[in-house]
This record gives sequence, structure tokens and C-alpha cells, in this order.
Amino acid sequence: MKHEYVPRSLPVKAFAQADGELSGSVPLAEMERLHSESLEPADTAEVSFSAEGEMQEDAAGQLEPWIHLSGATTLVMTCQRCLTPVATEIEFERSFRFVASEALAEVEDEESEEDVLVLSREFNLLELVEDELLMAIPAVPKHEECPAPVKLEAVDADFDISPAEKPNPFAVLQQLKK
Ligand SMILES: [Zn+2]
Repeated sequence: MKHEYVPRSLPVKAFAQADGELSGSVPLAEMERLHSESLEPADTAEVSFSAEGEMQEDAAGQLEPWIHLSGATTLVMTCQRCLTPVATEIEFERSFRFVASEALAEVEDEESEEDVLVLSREFNLLELVEDELLMAIPAVPKHEECPAPVKLEAVDADFDISPAEKPNPFAVLQQLKK
């Protein structure tokens, strides 16, 4: 039987026990914090996500609920090289293990490679997707190739920004040899 899960109030344990699967997309505008990172948020922009539930044994043989989660969207950000808008794809893929209490989560999160969250009856999966996407935003968004250099000059004149100066890797090597 196919279960209809609601991503904003997901019963994590039941989802994991049923090897549940849930994927879909929501308008970027529904994720306020993420939406505000986008320069000119198109009304059509969407956030896609996909989740799989699973029960896994821990070291002590205890079954624990896991969710394997991924998400993606496109934000319009400012290119740090030419200062014009650049469509920036962001995405993440991560697994989460759920434990019974906040205290357990704190202890185990430090000891585990995976992220540990607290099990709740109704879990807001979309909030987690938003958190993860916010963390996946590049610190320095850039075009792979910036548009026409004419624009670059115009921007330089206004803002007095010189082109990024990267250290020459060969010069760095030479220094290391000394
Ligand atoms: Zn650029």
C-alpha cells in the first residue's frame, strides 16, 4: 500500500519503518530564509527534494530510524568577480539518524560522522531541506565565465574593484622549495 506522506509533518519513525520514500518540489518563495538569499527570485523558482527512510542497527544492535535526504534549487546571486547576477545551483545530499532525546542527540552528534537529530512525532522535513541548502550556499558565487568584459569595466569604475588576484601557483611552489 502506498502511503501519502506530508513533508512538513513527517512521522519519521513510521516513515523509516515502512522504508518510506518521499520526493517533490515546493516554490522557493515558501522557504523564506532561502528565498531572501536570491537577488531576483523568480516566482517560478522551485526547491526539489527527495527522502528515503530506513531502519538501521546501531553498534548495540538497536534499530534506529534514518533518513537519507537530498535537495536542490537555483538562487540568483551576485558574481563576486564581475558583480552581475549569476544563477547559482545549490544542492546537498546527507543522511540523518534520529535518536530519542535532545541529550542523546548532542552527545552522539559529536561522536558520529552522520548528523544526529531528535525524533519527533511530526518532523518538518522541508525546514531541514532549507537548513541544508542554506549551508550549501557557496561563500563566493561566481560565473564559470563572466559575461562581456564591458560590464566588468563599468562595474570596476563604479565600485573600484580590481580583478581578484590569485597567487601564481608556480610562484607559491618556488617559495615552498626555498
Ligand atoms: Zn561574473
